[in-house]
Amino acid sequence: MTMDLRVGLGFDLHRLVEGRPCILGGIEFDHPTGPSGHSDGDAVLHAVADALLGAAGLDDLGSLFPDTDAAWRGADSSALLAECVRRVTEAGWRPVNLDIVIATEGPRIAPRRADMRARIGELVGLSPDAVNVKGKTLEGMGSLAEGRGVAVQVVVLLGK
Ligand code: MG
Repeated sequence: MTMDLRVGLGFDLHRLVEGRPCILGGIEFDHPTGPSGHSDGDAVLHAVADALLGAAGLDDLGSLFPDTDAAWRGADSSALLAECVRRVTEAGWRPVNLDIVIATEGPRIAPRRADMRARIGELVGLSPDAVNVKGKTLEGMGSLAEGRGVAVQVVVLLGK
């Protein structure tokens, strides 16, 4: 029997800087810093997109939306993710579940976890119970622990 399943891994890292809206997982947080980047800097949606593309064998977000292309300056990452989902679906795959780890000292993820699960689920076509989100702190180690960034890991399962 052939199991038509694929696993994909996504990772992204953005600096948190002053003067940027803090958008993570498609949700705007009330926080004094936000992710820098060519697009809106949403490291969570970028890692989700890379996990989906990876599982489907479709390269990565950077090759689809190069940061040298002015068209994507300030882009809404929800739209970038929607395009990735479209391509993955076109290739015959559908997401089964996502598990997401967000490592940062701020903003606090837990109070917005339900919102984030619902929003990401909406974007990838999953119910919130199939989109898990975990916030982790950095235990005082390194520049992430000083609040200067956010790192995200995502694993996704795709089925035919
Ligand atoms: Mg990114």
